[in-house]
Amino acid sequence: MEQNGNCLVWTGALSSEGYGIASYKGRFMRAHRLGYTLIVGDITGEILDHLCRNRACVNPEHLEPVTNRENVMRGLEARGVCKNGHPRLPELTLKWRNPRTELGYTLHCKLCRYISTGRNTANLKRAAGLSDTI
Ligand SMILES: [Zn+2]
Ligand SMILES: [Zn+2]
Repeated sequence: MEQNGNCLVWTGALSSEGYGIASYKGRFMRAHRLGYTLIVGDITGEILDHLCRNRACVNPEHLEPVTNRENVMRGLEARGVCKNGHPRLPELTLKWRNPRTELGYTLHCKLCRYISTGRNTANLKRAAGLSDTI
């Protein structure tokens, strides 16, 4: 392992996705999962997310277990609806440039913004062809 900034970079084999591969008790595991399990303990979520976005990093401080539900929510966000279940229609979606994210932008739901600021959403919903019940 090699120190790279705050990251502990795996210098052994890497998978095609860029994750470190370690063998442990005769099994191959992703190095960051193994490191986390040995140092911190059982992984509470299905997924161990790299907060530093460096997949070869095995520093447990840079790893965050994500529950399956959160992961599903993140997936939904990327696909068709916001976290409150509003459809990602072009009329309802703001796209903000954000070079720090993987996609290079983040999506923001106009309906959620309207609701959180107490604005009337009727016109917005009508423009998007939605009924007023959503
Ligand atoms: Zn890291
Ligand atoms: Zn929304």
